[in-house]
Amino acid sequence: MDIQAQIVITSMIVMVVLLALWLFVYPRWQGRRREQAPFSPEWEAIVRYRLPFYDRMPDRLKTALHNQIKHFLANKRFVGCAGQRINDDVRVSIAAQACLLILDRPGDYYTSLHTIMVYPSEFLAARDQPDEMGLVSHQSRVLAGEAWSNGRIILSWDSVERSAANFSDGFNVVLHEFAHQLDNQFGHANGAPWLNSHAAYQRWSEVFGAEFKRLRALASDPGAAWLNQQDEVLDFYGASEPAEFFAVATETFFEKPFALQARHPELFEQLLWYYRVDPRQWQ
Ligand SMILES: [Zn+2]
Repeated sequence: MDIQAQIVITSMIVMVVLLALWLFVYPRWQGRRREQAPFSPEWEAIVRYRLPFYDRMPDRLKTALHNQIKHFLANKRFVGCAGQRINDDVRVSIAAQACLLILDRPGDYYTSLHTIMVYPSEFLAARDQPDEMGLVSHQSRVLAGEAWSNGRIILSWDSVERSAANFSDGFNVVLHEFAHQLDNQFGHANGAPWLNSHAAYQRWSEVFGAEFKRLRALASDPGAAWLNQQDEVLDFYGASEPAEFFAVATETFFEKPFALQARHPELFEQLLWYYRVDPRQWQ
């Protein structure tokens, strides 16, 4: 091999190594550095401003929240859509609410999720919807959020802000979409996230199955659905399918824990066991 060919091959190898360092090693190193840095006072000010109950949280959970937010922000990509700006307020506000679901689950940080797409307001989602006959129609729906199984979540920023501003109405788009993310982390979303044993799945399906059936009966009562909803702590949107039931139950658990415990003690116990935190502590 002549000297010129050797130079070309060597420079190609050097370029490939540099590219690999730039693409794979540098982001990891940068992420680890960010995770190890102390939680910045600016970020804490955002969390305090956005989460009305933050100051009432036990110190242990505040520290856990800081660590999960750092981990989350070091590993997830935020993309602004339709002119939405991505700044620390957007990133920290979404991360703080999403991390409430994994507060006491160190090491678990939505591993299959990589991108959060943020729109300024509710967005139009188009999809092909099969009916009972198998006919597929193209439909568009206005959504505040959507969780995909391909590692993406879409949120509207004004819904995120509204959700954070009122943490006791039982509606929270971030908690809802990230509950879907936990549900579909290891496969199809079916209302049961990953649990650690066969017995746990059995108990989960007994409690969730019965509660889902009960909510569905209340919601489908043609004459009394509206009145039934006034009397029910779980939103009837949860009656549409088991995956929605888990997401709605999660919102209710974090935002109306006392009412959920009083009205649906077994459901409350399951969620308390799964999330390993007790939102009654800071209500
Ligand atoms: Zn949903």
